[in-house]
Amino acid sequence: MSAALPSQPAIAETVAALRAIVRGYRAAGETVALVPTMGALHEGHLQLVREGRKRADRAIATIFVNPTQFGPNEDFARYPRDRDGDLAKLASAGASAVFLPTVETMYPSGFATTVSVAGLTEGLCGAYRPGHFAGVATVVTKLLMQALPDVALFGEKDYQQLQVIRRFVRDLDIPVEIQGVPTIREADGLALSSRNAYLTPAERAVAPLLHALLDEIAEKLQAGQDAAPLLEAGMGRLGEAGFGPVQYLAFVDADTLQPMGRADRPGRLLVAAYLGKTRLIDNIAVPPRGA
Ligand code: AMP
Repeated sequence: MSAALPSQPAIAETVAALRAIVRGYRAAGETVALVPTMGALHEGHLQLVREGRKRADRAIATIFVNPTQFGPNEDFARYPRDRDGDLAKLASAGASAVFLPTVETMYPSGFATTVSVAGLTEGLCGAYRPGHFAGVATVVTKLLMQALPDVALFGEKDYQQLQVIRRFVRDLDIPVEIQGVPTIREADGLALSSRNAYLTPAERAVAPLLHALLDEIAEKLQAGQDAAPLLEAGMGRLGEAGFGPVQYLAFVDADTLQPMGRADRPGRLLVAAYLGKTRLIDNIAVPPRGA
């Protein structure tokens, strides 16, 4: 007996085609989850699709390598792209449809509007990637307005991004529920990322330190230690292990992303560091002491 092949998702390349697909689902009384991605899909992305399936009748994935969220010296041109592989993975995860817009579809000639979120975007990655979060906020706003799903799912892997999305969705009264999904990791703790493909074998062997260090610092914060010396020592450890530059290792309020000195309320520990030519980020929750 052969296993049934998963059914192929419908493909939309224009906004009109995407809306026609969503209209069909709505006409059948079905709810819709949206999973925006940049492709080069891995288990982390597929987990978002599976969570979407739990929360709605239909999951639609979008694949768009968004040029406006990359800086001039970043990896837009060499960002991994694998359309056929992605479509096969999305079929197996149960996506009903995939939106694959072109750059011209998303940013037609004369495009002049930007969504930018103050405050939340100034520190952490925002300090090192000027314009990045405006690029993300603008493209995610467009995707939400194009599909008008019931729920959209985003990974906690990009924690600052998730907080920024929650903020503008609330501020602009976009009628979509935003659902965060915990980070999917390799067995050794490394957070799955499309950019892990850039790592050399030697770098890949060192990379799990990022998560191990976050765990170690979180434990000490929860034991009541002050953040500042732990973060300073942590930066040193990363440098010694071959990371560099280490852009930040920070302990912040889980909602406002403002720096915190002690684990006296829900916090988040975040890191961004280069390993060779690859920029890696990771973060974990630090529940308040005694929680
Ligand atoms: P990207 O394709 O990198 O833009 O990511 C698309 C979505 O997948 C974002 O919401 C990410 O936060 C999420 N994502 C990426 N890596 C992971 C992971 N390891 N675990 C869970 N979600 C992830």
